[in-house]
Amino acid sequence: MAMANCERCGKLFVFLSIKLCPECREHEDKCLRRAREILMREPNLSIIELAERLGEPLELVEKFLREKRLTLKRRDGVNLACEICGKPISEGRRCTSCDLRMRRIADDIAAEGKRESREKMHSLSTIRKRSVGVEDEEE
Ligand SMILES: [Zn+2]
Ligand SMILES: [Zn+2]
Repeated sequence: MAMANCERCGKLFVFLSIKLCPECREHEDKCLRRAREILMREPNLSIIELAERLGEPLELVEKFLREKRLTLKRRDGVNLACEICGKPISEGRRCTSCDLRMRRIADDIAAEGKRESREKMHSLSTIRKRSVGVEDEEE
């Protein structure tokens, strides 16, 4: 069984896919629900004001934005950066242009993979054989 330390409180717990122990996960879910309720009443809050209303660190609200679990109308004060080009963004992990580029690359790889997977596997094993062969033979 894989164990991990909770990202938030440091407690050891059984690691599944989220880096938080069950209690902290519940706490985050509650915060998210509260944040949504607050934004329904006051949709024009900035990220700082929202964090203040919640009584939670700014990073938590940023995390929600990054995970796209929350969307803010006002974008000022949001300090997220595109993980590829570093451009400031207001939600998610990548800016729209990088996102588009990544999607295209992913499509290309998928398309190529279908077309050339057999060829590639062949060439990969050939390369392996060759590199081993060089060591063995030593011409
Ligand atoms: Zn925890
Ligand atoms: Zn970018």
